[in-house]
Amino acid sequence: MRAAMLYGVRDLRIEDVPKPEVEAGEVLVKVKAATTCGTDLKIFQRGYVEKVIRLPTIFGHEWAGEVVEIGEGLDWPTKGMHVRAGNSAPCLHCSMCQRGKYNLCENMIWLWGAYAEYIKVPARMVLVNMQEIPGHVSYEEAALTEPLACVLHGVEEASVKLGDTVAIIGAGPIGLLHLLTVKKMGAEKTIIIDLVEERLSFAEKMGADETINAGKTHVIEAVKQLTGGYGADIVIEAIGLPATWEQALRLVRKGGTVLEFGGCPPGAEIRLNAELLHYGEVKVLGAFHTTPLHFRKALNLIASKTIDVKSLITRKMKLENIKKAFEILSTSKTEIKIAIAP
Ligand SMILES: [Zn+2]
Ligand SMILES: [Zn+2]
Repeated sequence: MRAAMLYGVRDLRIEDVPKPEVEAGEVLVKVKAATTCGTDLKIFQRGYVEKVIRLPTIFGHEWAGEVVEIGEGLDWPTKGMHVRAGNSAPCLHCSMCQRGKYNLCENMIWLWGAYAEYIKVPARMVLVNMQEIPGHVSYEEAALTEPLACVLHGVEEASVKLGDTVAIIGAGPIGLLHLLTVKKMGAEKTIIIDLVEERLSFAEKMGADETINAGKTHVIEAVKQLTGGYGADIVIEAIGLPATWEQALRLVRKGGTVLEFGGCPPGAEIRLNAELLHYGEVKVLGAFHTTPLHFRKALNLIASKTIDVKSLITRKMKLENIKKAFEILSTSKTEIKIAIAP
């Protein structure tokens, strides 16, 4: 089968690799759509080898497709079913899983290999993190279940409430998914901060109430001005840089919550003013990945159009052009998500 193998920084090649053999409990899916993701882009550009990826590997982790082969011992799914799965499956047994912290599972398995004709879903993942896609939902939209699931986990941790003012740093795919989600959770005012004017106007089209160009405006003053001098109730960092993690701490009101969502490079540290936590009672939260429950919720919210993810897909390309797709994402100011079709 054709697959996009990642060997290293910007070294992404289309190759013929053996079609995976299905064993007991496993499922083979014909990939119909796979979407590009900020994490993929980071790995492509900077070669971050995270805990979850070992090179060389077939690249990509957001996908949806049609079941073509089923291993022994399964009475679900069925052949021809439209499904999505992964990109993770917790063990349900470790001490984190026992505490319900499935996203922090000590024995998490990860699935990479979306940019290919076929993808094999491991037995554990079939059981805990594979869903049938309703007929009216496109494969492209269903592929966005993964990033939305991560966002749902984060905003639940941050306890966004009806009437909150929410400031989001970053108008990329993750920032925009946060925007769509917190609006549905009842945010009264949303403020999006980015350096790229085109991204800010896209965010406006997606419903952002206020936008701030951090290259042209003093962000802290602008946020204060938009919040009666206090700062936002909730600040979400959706970029993954120490500088913006620190900036987020300066945009929140007393008693507010900062959700540091974007993953920083390994070893990164930030400075945190102790007075902010003590006298200001600011809550600072991290959020990592997501849980099977949130994957289910995310797909349901996409299916019901409660969170309409369609407009985030700004381009469709063929698997053969995958490298070009990532080159485009590296430089483009307007592309959000590219859907790749084998
Ligand atoms: Zn992703
Ligand atoms: Zn576990």
